[in-house]
Amino acid sequence: MTKIDEKLEPILAEVLRRNAGELEFHQAVIEVMESLGRVIAKKPHYADHALIERLCEPERQIIFRVPWVDDAGQVQINRGFRVQFNSALGPYKGGLRFHPSVNLGIIKFLGFEQIFKNALTGLPIGGGKGGSDFNPRGRSEGEIMRFCQSFMTELQRHLGEYTDVPAGDIGVGGREIGYLFGQFKRLTNRYEAGVLTGKGLVYGGSRARTEATGFGATYFVSSMLATRSMDFEGRKCVVSGSGNVATYTIEKIRQFGGIVIACSDSSGYIIDEDGIDLELLKEIKQVRRERISQYVQMKGAGARYVEDGSIWDVPCEVAMPSATQNELTGKDASTLVKNGVIAVGEGANMPCTPEAVRIFQGAGVLFGPGKAANAGGVATSALEMQQNASRDSWSFEKTEERLAGIMRNIHDNCAETAEEYGAPGDYVLGANIVGFERVAAAMTAFGVI
Ligand code: GLU
Repeated sequence: MTKIDEKLEPILAEVLRRNAGELEFHQAVIEVMESLGRVIAKKPHYADHALIERLCEPERQIIFRVPWVDDAGQVQINRGFRVQFNSALGPYKGGLRFHPSVNLGIIKFLGFEQIFKNALTGLPIGGGKGGSDFNPRGRSEGEIMRFCQSFMTELQRHLGEYTDVPAGDIGVGGREIGYLFGQFKRLTNRYEAGVLTGKGLVYGGSRARTEATGFGATYFVSSMLATRSMDFEGRKCVVSGSGNVATYTIEKIRQFGGIVIACSDSSGYIIDEDGIDLELLKEIKQVRRERISQYVQMKGAGARYVEDGSIWDVPCEVAMPSATQNELTGKDASTLVKNGVIAVGEGANMPCTPEAVRIFQGAGVLFGPGKAANAGGVATSALEMQQNASRDSWSFEKTEERLAGIMRNIHDNCAETAEEYGAPGDYVLGANIVGFERVAAAMTAFGVI
C-alpha cells in the first residue's frame, strides 16, 4: 500500500471503523486516499471543513424489502439498495446491479467510484448506485418482470430526473430497464423520460448507449497506446466477461484492427485464435441468454472452452478486464506481465486488485483504471438525459462522436494531471485527482451541507 498522508490517516481509520466489514468499500476509499496526499499538500484547504470525511459518507442510503411471487406461487424476498452518495455536481447517477453478491458494502464501493467517474466525464451528474441481491439466473420473463415492478414500487419515491437517475449494471439490461420504466410511469402518472437511462430507442433511449461502455473503454486504451506511438492494429487482446461491456469492447477492438482471442463467463473462458466470432457471441448471450460454453459447440473447429481456469493465463498484449470486481489478482498480473502485456484497461468497476495494479504500474504497463476507462457508459447516459431534456434524438454517429471526444478528454485530463502532480503515466492518480478536485470545488462552494 502506498503510504497515506498523515493528515489523511485518521480520516481513513475512521471510515474503516464505521464501515466495518465492507471490504470492497474500504478498497475503493483507500485507493482514492492514496492519491489525495498530493492534492492536500498543494491545496491544503481541501482538507478543511471535514470535506474529505463528508465525501466518504453517503448523503443518503436506502435499504428496502422487495417481495415478489415466483412462478410456483411462492413468495420470495430480496433486499433492495440505493446509495445516493454525492450530488455536488448533479442528480445522483449510477446503475442498478442485480446479482446474488450484492450487499451494502458492494453498492457503497460502486457508488463511491461513481462520484469520481461521473465527475471525470465533465457532465453534470452526481454519484450513486443501487441494486439487489436478486439472482436473475434461471428466472423466467414473468419472474424478472414481477421482481422489477416490486423493486420500482419502492424505489420510485426516491427518484426523479433532478434527483436520482438509475441505469443498468450487472444483471440489469434493456429488458429490465423497460420493466422498471413502465412501472415508474404507471405509479407516478408521469412520462418522465430522464428518470432512467439505458432505455429502449422507442421510448426515449439514446443511440450508442448500449455500446458506450465497451466502445469508450477501447477508445481510452487506444489513447493510452498512442502516448507510446502504438495502436490496436494486429494486437492480440483478451477481454474477460461476455456481457454488455465485454461484447462492445470486442466489437470496437475489432474495428480498430485488434484480435480478441478470449472472453469468459463466471463458469470458464473460451479461446478462439481466429478472433472471437462476435455475431455468434451475441446470438448465444443476447438472444438465447445461454452460457459461453455453447460457443465451442456452435462454432466447431478452432475454438476451445476452459472450465474454471484463469483467462489471464492466455498470452496477450492488451488485457481488458470487463467482468466484475477483483477478478484479476496479483498472480494474474504477474502472468500477464511475464507474457508481455503492454496495456490494461478496466472495463468493469475495480476488476484489478490493488496488488495487480501495483504490479502493472511497477512493470511500466499502461494501466487505465475503471473510473476513467469505463466512464463512457455513464457519459452516454448523461447524453441520453440531454436528449430527453430537449425532447430530441441524435444519430448514432453524432452520439458516438460525442462519446469519443469525452473519452479523449478524460484520457488527456488524467495524463496531464498525473504529470502536473509529479507522476507521469499514473492514470490512477490522475483520475482520482481530477475527479476529486471537481467535486471538492463544488462542495466547497456549497458550505457545510
Ligand atoms: N453501471 C454503469 C457504470 O458503472 C453505468 C451507470 C449509468 O449509466 O448511470 O458506470
